Order: sequence, then C-alpha cells, then structure tokens
Amino acid sequence: MSPASERGGGGSLEPASTSARAKADGATPRGSERASASEHGSGAGIEGVPASERAGGAGGATPPGQTIDAHQHFWRYDPAEYGWIDESMTALRRDFLPLDAKRDMDAAAVSTCVAVQARQTLEETDWLLDLADRHAFIAGVVGWVDLQAVDVEAQLERRADRARLVGIRHIVQGERDDFLDRAQFRAGIARLERFDLAYDILVYARQLPAAVRFARAFPGQRFVLDHLGKPDIRHAGFREWRGDIGRLAALPNVCCKLSGLVTEADWRSWTAGQLRPYLDATVESFGPARVMIGSDWPVCTVAATYQEVIDLVRDAVGEYSATEKQQILYGTAQSVYLARKTFPAEEEI
Ligand SMILES: [Zn+2]
Repeated sequence: MSPASERGGGGSLEPASTSARAKADGATPRGSERASASEHGSGAGIEGVPASERAGGAGGATPPGQTIDAHQHFWRYDPAEYGWIDESMTALRRDFLPLDAKRDMDAAAVSTCVAVQARQTLEETDWLLDLADRHAFIAGVVGWVDLQAVDVEAQLERRADRARLVGIRHIVQGERDDFLDRAQFRAGIARLERFDLAYDILVYARQLPAAVRFARAFPGQRFVLDHLGKPDIRHAGFREWRGDIGRLAALPNVCCKLSGLVTEADWRSWTAGQLRPYLDATVESFGPARVMIGSDWPVCTVAATYQEVIDLVRDAVGEYSATEKQQILYGTAQSVYLARKTFPAEEEI
C-alpha cells in the first residue's frame, strides 16, 4: 500500500515511525473478494523454542479455556504524537488505558494481554512496562528500541531487568521497502537473541518477500508476524499474499498473530465469511502451535467490537481439537512471548 499522503481519505491502521509518520497506512476501506485456502502446515512449534521447555517458564500448567490477547495498544492521546490517527478514526482520538481494555476483556473472557508499542520512543516502551508492572493482566510488552542505533545494546541492557519486556517491534510498514535488508537494522536485530526477545514483524503484504529473506537470515531469532502480514482484503489480494505466507510459514522460527483483519477489510461491510479464508490459510500454513489470537484493540474498534474480533478467531478455530485450540488461544503466546528466559549474566555471554 502506498503512503497516506498519496492515497487520501483512508485510515492509518498502524502508526508510522516518528520520522515517517506521513507514510502511515492510508488504506481506504472498500471492496471485498473471496478466496480459498489450501496447504497444511507442520504445526511443529517455533524452532529453537521447544514449547515444552518454554511453556513452564512463566506460569506452569495452563488452565483450560484461557485466552491471551497477544496484541493490544495503550495510549494517552496527543495529536502531535499520534498523527497517524486521522480523520477516519476520530473514535481513536482519546485515551485508551488498561482499565478500558479490561472491561472488554472481562466481557469476552480474555484473561491476559500483550501490549505492543505504537509510537517508537523509548519513553513509550518504559511507560508500557510501568503499566505492566501495575496491571498483572498485561503479561508482556512488545516495546521499541532504536535497532539502528550504535548503542542499541545499551538500550536493551538498561531494560534487561524488566521481565515483562518480551519483544521488540519497529513499524517497518512505514519504512521503505528495502528496510529489512539494511545492514544497520539487521545489526540491531542480531542483538535480540542474547536478550531472549521476540521480534514482531509489521509489514504490508507487498513487503512479505522481504520479510521472508529477513527471517531466514536469523534462524535463531523468534519472529512474530503481525496481522497475517496485512493482506489487502479490500482489493482481492488473497492469491499473492497466500504464496508469501506459505514461504514465511516454511521458516520454523516464525509464528503469526491472528489479528488486525477487520481493519484490512471494509470497516463497515466486512463479514466473517470474507475473512475466514485468510484465517484458515494462516492456521493451515503455520499450524496451531505457531499462531496466536490477537485483537489489535483499540484500533480494531473502528471496524468491530472487541467481542466480535475475538469471536472471529474463536469461531474460525472451533473445529480444531481442544489441544490445538488451546495453542491458538493461549499456548503459542505463552511460549513465544511469556516464557522468556531470564537475562543471561555477563559470564554466560
Ligand atoms: Zn496494532
């Protein structure tokens, strides 16, 4: 998709980087298409991260039926900081804080969430970590550090004792298409493994081939693809997206969030039937042990209620076995994010 400035009138569904705010996703909701799913994934679990090993690290046995929402945002609204919230999303121009989310989560029987960065500042990362310290239901934070900075290691070390920091994300969708190939960015990514941090890949579907090269270059790094790689649901983008998702799913160190679909479709006229092929294809490609439910609250609320977004995934996986459903709704997020090992002492490095 092209920058908002070229598209006009659309909604920015993820924040752009501070330096490239004008490049935010300006997708205009319109249109729909049908497509069918195929292929089957291995379901073998994320490589280098045996579920049996990681799952015990932060909570022990999993109560049946629990749900972790692996993708939420919190903010205190400030027009200068959130320029990506444009005229099409005026409902997002207010504070969204943990207790707002908790109300919706309780009603939808979602126990836990992972908070994800939205602004690309160290201050926001620390603020989200403070929120997680105060609210036990925020079990993890996917924050931001400047992965291109020469002092990225120091930025990570300063937060090494924050146990709820579970991953890092950069808003790559707002960057040039060659961004994931840049040596400077990759040098930062290479630091994450030492800190046992996941990395969230946020790209548009057209950037997925670059994401495949990128994830392949770091076989020991855990990656989480946000929002199914943002298929262009409004413009019949299934076929090309499907091939790229298959190639990404073939990499065992990558898993995928079942999130963000309603805002890639027409906000007013999307249907579960329209989105279902994307969900089915993703679960089939990655397997239940490498996909996790996420809401993208509050961004999702421009197109659906929280309950509707959660139900979309719960319904789509309704035919899977109890064990597989537990992985999709809870276990994958637990093992990929929340079972992060403790930071290694200097002598172990
Ligand atoms: Zn999001």
